[in-house]
Amino acid sequence: MARYTGPVCKLCRREGTKLFLKGTRCFSAKCAFEKRSYIPGQHGQGRRSKLSEYGIQLREKQKVKRMYGVLESQFRNYYERASRQKGVTGENLLSILESRLDNVIYRLGFAPSRNSARQLVLHRHFTVNGRRVNVPSYRVKPGDIISVQDKSRKLTVVHDSMRKMKDESLVPWLRVDKAKLEGEFLERPARQDMPIDVQENLIVELYSK
Ligand code: SF4
Repeated sequence: MARYTGPVCKLCRREGTKLFLKGTRCFSAKCAFEKRSYIPGQHGQGRRSKLSEYGIQLREKQKVKRMYGVLESQFRNYYERASRQKGVTGENLLSILESRLDNVIYRLGFAPSRNSARQLVLHRHFTVNGRRVNVPSYRVKPGDIISVQDKSRKLTVVHDSMRKMKDESLVPWLRVDKAKLEGEFLERPARQDMPIDVQENLIVELYSK
């Protein structure tokens, strides 16, 4: 299962925005983007020149891919699936991305970042409806129950993350029971309930060319 393994803070600097890929560090003074918001590389400072229409669309797509830790071919597949669904393609695309198991675990507060959630899933620390799932891209459906599996209930990373998660940050399409270390995916998220600063229409325009 291919994935990007390079330095993640560079991705935020490249996209010119915080992508929140490192959990609590992203909210601290150690955040690399807060210190150096220019493009990485020798001539990075001053290189953020005016982009063409294509360039703007491309950067938005790259930003979303990097935010969710998805590579191009998988992202393209998600787009194709979104375009076949009823409704607005851009919103469908974001809804599909938000329904990934690694994202749901992150949103439930069981992991400090999507990357961390991905690792936890790969190491078989979670179950969906009582069955262990080790596929980060697993698509969670309404009514699914996501739980920390019995042998992993003492994991420090999970408890630290849950302690830091504020109740008001929980999205309305999820329910969490902190005592049981369990969450429920209530319904497919609507656009206004997906807290991401993205112009998904630009991605649709890019792929529709
Ligand atoms: Fe991005 Fe987080 Fe690194 Fe800051 S600390 S640059 S938000 S990944």
